[in-house]
Amino acid sequence: MTKPKVGFFGVTGCAGDLLNVLNCEDQLLDLVDLVDIREFLMASSEGDHEVMLDVAFIEGCVVSQRDEDVVKAVRQRTRLLVALGTCAMWGGVPTLDRLHDRGALLQQVYGDFGRTIDTRPAQALDEIVKVDFGLPGCPIEKHEFLAAVANLLNGNLPQLPHYPVCAECRFAENRCLLGQDGALCLGPLTIAGCDARCPSLGVACNGCRGPAPDANFESAATLYQSMGYTRAQVERAMATFAPLPGAVH
Ligand code: SF4
Ligand code: SF4
Repeated sequence: MTKPKVGFFGVTGCAGDLLNVLNCEDQLLDLVDLVDIREFLMASSEGDHEVMLDVAFIEGCVVSQRDEDVVKAVRQRTRLLVALGTCAMWGGVPTLDRLHDRGALLQQVYGDFGRTIDTRPAQALDEIVKVDFGLPGCPIEKHEFLAAVANLLNGNLPQLPHYPVCAECRFAENRCLLGQDGALCLGPLTIAGCDARCPSLGVACNGCRGPAPDANFESAATLYQSMGYTRAQVERAMATFAPLPGAVH
């Protein structure tokens, strides 16, 4: 049987999602047995840059014309495109600058040189091209990546949880940091899949996996404000990994 041809690519990001693919050490040999990896710069400088792919995984967000060109070129040579990680799905931490004057930030950090840099407000991949599926996480969860590959190999699109981190937190019988301690925990708004890693360690969720499908930001903001947080604190927390609904560039 012909193995599906697969490529891994990165635009602007920390490469943590690609690294987590390589961190699947116990399953990597099985993986290369099942798929034909044609391009994966983090793993090998050798690559087949022309071949048509069955699945392309792209990490990172688009912050420049160069990124846009890469994403469009990959889209043209793949049957399925998977956004790998929160930056690829939502824009991630780089979208934080939507809360500020971007020109002023560039001036502050780079001086006049800032005006010459090929850069623009961060965009998720699906703001540029069609994305068939997204795996959230900062970085992605190894088990979710492997389950997604297994699904794709069987011709199915993977399913993400439809519930928030709070559900996993309840399954783990954790103390609620929001309800009992008044912490600004974003578990009610954040898509599950990490087994409530942070609250299980006594740390409030900061929403690194991006919004849950039915996240009600306004209702949550009202709740957090009733607990004494300012609107600015709440919006800042909510916008750390994904733009607030309606946020403009
Ligand atoms: S600690 Fe956070 S994630 Fe856990 S139940 Fe409370 S609000 Fe939800
Ligand atoms: S609990 Fe929240 S911040 Fe922690 S890994 Fe899960 S989604 Fe990310």
